[in-house]
Amino acid sequence: MDEPLSPTSGRSELWALPRRAVVVVLAVEASAVALVVAGSATPPPGAIGLAVFLTVLSVVHTELATGIERIRRRAAQTAYFDLSSVWTFAAALLLPPMLAAAVIAAVYVHLWQRVWRPAKVPLHRHVYTTATVVLAANAAHAVVQGAGGLPTAAADLGGVAGIALAVLLYVLVNAVLVAVVIVLTSERPGLRDIFGGWDDNAVEIATICMGALAAVALGSTPGLVALVLPPILVLHRAVLVRQLEEVASTDAKTGLLNAAAWQVQGTRIVRRVHRSRGTAAVLILDLDHFKLVNDSYGHLAGDEVLAAVATELRNSVREQDIVGRFGGEEFVVLLPDLAPGPDGNTEMRTIAERLRKRVAELVVPVGTPDGDLSISGLSISVGGAAVPNDGTTLEQVLNAADASLYAAKRDGRNLVRFAGPVEIPGPRSGN
Ligand code: GH3
Ligand code: MG
Ligand code: MG
Repeated sequence: MDEPLSPTSGRSELWALPRRAVVVVLAVEASAVALVVAGSATPPPGAIGLAVFLTVLSVVHTELATGIERIRRRAAQTAYFDLSSVWTFAAALLLPPMLAAAVIAAVYVHLWQRVWRPAKVPLHRHVYTTATVVLAANAAHAVVQGAGGLPTAAADLGGVAGIALAVLLYVLVNAVLVAVVIVLTSERPGLRDIFGGWDDNAVEIATICMGALAAVALGSTPGLVALVLPPILVLHRAVLVRQLEEVASTDAKTGLLNAAAWQVQGTRIVRRVHRSRGTAAVLILDLDHFKLVNDSYGHLAGDEVLAAVATELRNSVREQDIVGRFGGEEFVVLLPDLAPGPDGNTEMRTIAERLRKRVAELVVPVGTPDGDLSISGLSISVGGAAVPNDGTTLEQVLNAADASLYAAKRDGRNLVRFAGPVEIPGPRSGN
């Protein structure tokens, strides 16, 4: 896997990185070179042929996969995968470190030409990734050798354990070395920025497991390695499908979930909450007199306001809350797993009121044909309803929340209204 070192840094020069990051990058690259040079020895017979064969397999794999990659690149804004670790890991297990490094270098030069340069990934990033892979391969090789080499006998438990440990170490060395640079080059990166998502890591581990099987096949019946290509290409397609799903569920203007995706997630959560006799709430939020914003500043400025409100909503709720764009200037928020009884009620009302206040305080800088200006004085009306008090399906609760939203509009806007009997008194809007 080749991940961008930082989602926030688009800098293409190594020297433009913070000094500590440059030091780490150079140290890692120097260690990779030093380890390879120190470990160089005359390769055993057949090893050079095997190295060439692995490189050819990787080239064939990349060529077969570039079609998938091209679509993926168009669909995804996120990092994308090459699944080359299947070959680099096999090389790590089968070849002496110097030859494994030669395979890794050849594979990464080819990937650079076909995948990463067209994707405009800075060269220094790719070189760093190559170095981390060389170091990970060295670690994996040492572990397997320590366990007595690749398993050959039927009951070689030590060999199997060695491979399992090698997989772990290979993933860990790569992940930690990439993480260090991300931490040094990004401002307040999240855990997901640093280590990638679960799915990404699962795909990486699956690829490396295929690499282990490829190595064992090559060690006994080399022809069997052909069986690795179909599953690895299917794995590649699975990554594409997942990324397309992500794009299909996102509202492009705001980055929030779109209505369909929100409803799918919401339905699932409300079902779960109902089954476990828990409490949840739905809020519908509608910008007040939004037509005026468009009429006064233009549609593009209106779009910027929508995006800013979306970000504010996302940042003002809890991690587990699901925020979506319901359509036009309407947003929806699902608050799962509220505390039971009056505490949950208070929690829901506090969150709704916080959202209303945050939007009212929002100042959105926008560029218009007449120059830059700030839009303020925005407001939203909020309608809320709860599971199970106002309904036990998402549809029922949404209907109840919609009725509450109408009540908020009718009562003067910039207000929060709930389906239940108790209302939070809110200030009347100035419009
Ligand atoms: P109310 O307080 O009653 O909700 O008034 P309103 O003006 O917000 O409501 P109305 O339903 O009359 O108008 C909604 C406006 O939202 C009209 C439409 O142009 C605008 N709108 C909907 N979607 C978008 C969008 O994607 N971008 C922009 N800029 N405007 C949008
Ligand atoms: Mg509306
Ligand atoms: Mg409106």
